[in-house]
Amino acid sequence: MGERYFPNHYLDYNDDNETLLIDGSESLITSLCTDFLRHIRVFLQELESNLTLSSSKDFTIYTGSTGIVLLYLKLYELNAFENERQDILRKANSLIKRSLENIGGGKERYSFLCGQTGVLACKVLINHARGKDYSKYLRIIRNLAPKILSDSTELPDEILFGRSGFLYSLLMIREKIEDSVQILDDNLIRSLVEKILKSGQLTSQREKNSSIPLIYYWHEKAYVGAAHGYAGILYILLEARNYLDDEKELNTLIKPTIDFVLGLQFPDTGNYRSSLNNTEDRLVHWCHGSPGVIHLLSLAYQVFEKEIYLNAAIKAADDIWHRGLLKKGCGLCHGTAGNGYAFIRLFQLTNDQKYLYRAVKFAEWCFEPHQHRIRIADRPYSLFEGLAGTIYFLADIIHPKQARFPAFQIKF
Ligand SMILES: [Zn+2]
Repeated sequence: MGERYFPNHYLDYNDDNETLLIDGSESLITSLCTDFLRHIRVFLQELESNLTLSSSKDFTIYTGSTGIVLLYLKLYELNAFENERQDILRKANSLIKRSLENIGGGKERYSFLCGQTGVLACKVLINHARGKDYSKYLRIIRNLAPKILSDSTELPDEILFGRSGFLYSLLMIREKIEDSVQILDDNLIRSLVEKILKSGQLTSQREKNSSIPLIYYWHEKAYVGAAHGYAGILYILLEARNYLDDEKELNTLIKPTIDFVLGLQFPDTGNYRSSLNNTEDRLVHWCHGSPGVIHLLSLAYQVFEKEIYLNAAIKAADDIWHRGLLKKGCGLCHGTAGNGYAFIRLFQLTNDQKYLYRAVKFAEWCFEPHQHRIRIADRPYSLFEGLAGTIYFLADIIHPKQARFPAFQIKF
């Protein structure tokens, strides 16, 4: 099998011919912004003309209609779309109506990315932006909690389908809408954090001789990456650090588990395996591999202030620069746009222009999403597999300090 990435022919950042990429207001310099916005508009037109043809019932953020809503909410924030804000909200609202109609069908799921909570959370954000009442939707989300807190072994803890994906929704809404605290209160968030910790502890206790305090499986595999594994679950727990007991939970359960993950880094490349039993160094994706783990390492560095996390993140970033232009295309989950966020994160963390430069180069690579792939994704216009994700990344990088990997990063 051939390589999974295109060779990176861009010159790497070089301190000798340093060019300034960011202006005083921490936006990309005008020439880059203009270029990025031009591509955003072209791709948006392509996306929208294909949306009208779609009769898909997929309501998810990951591959369905609500992912497009999340993209609209991102564009709504951009100054360049200031005069189109009402139109954007109208389009987002008509799409979310369709999503809400479709959440009844199929398997009950509660995560942000693949469950009904993502739809409800986006409806909250839209109504908030339109000055309409959103408490009804907050209550529906709140009323889902008993199912997530139940002892069902059916429900995983990972982000894509599981508990930490539900926890993300609560933390994100709380961050964006101050008075949501009245319905999504601290006790609710605390109970979810406890549940996820308890679940990992119980699994660890069941394994004989386990030295890892928290163990998580998805479909009987201990995944490492952001989508199904440790990186995602531990990352969301760290985002919820205000709800953790420092001594008993943060330092005794979470940190040793992060250190275990840290130790899985391939010494030669800096990448991470996809699951514990898999020793191959193959996937360099947000979902599987260092582009997801790097967010955990970055946040761990901020929380624990240990250089070892930063050094591991820097090593991973060098590898992503070389192996991160993916043949799977320019999406977020397993594509070049998702990998570009790894550099944005390191730029946020270190202020080193090198990482912003690398993110910009990955973004420019995404200017040709149809050429820069060898296979078309099943959902080629979706947020996590397709063009909507590419647009989201191009829009987010315009204000790199405010950029957030969607459905994952909350604060900085
Ligand atoms: Zn993926």
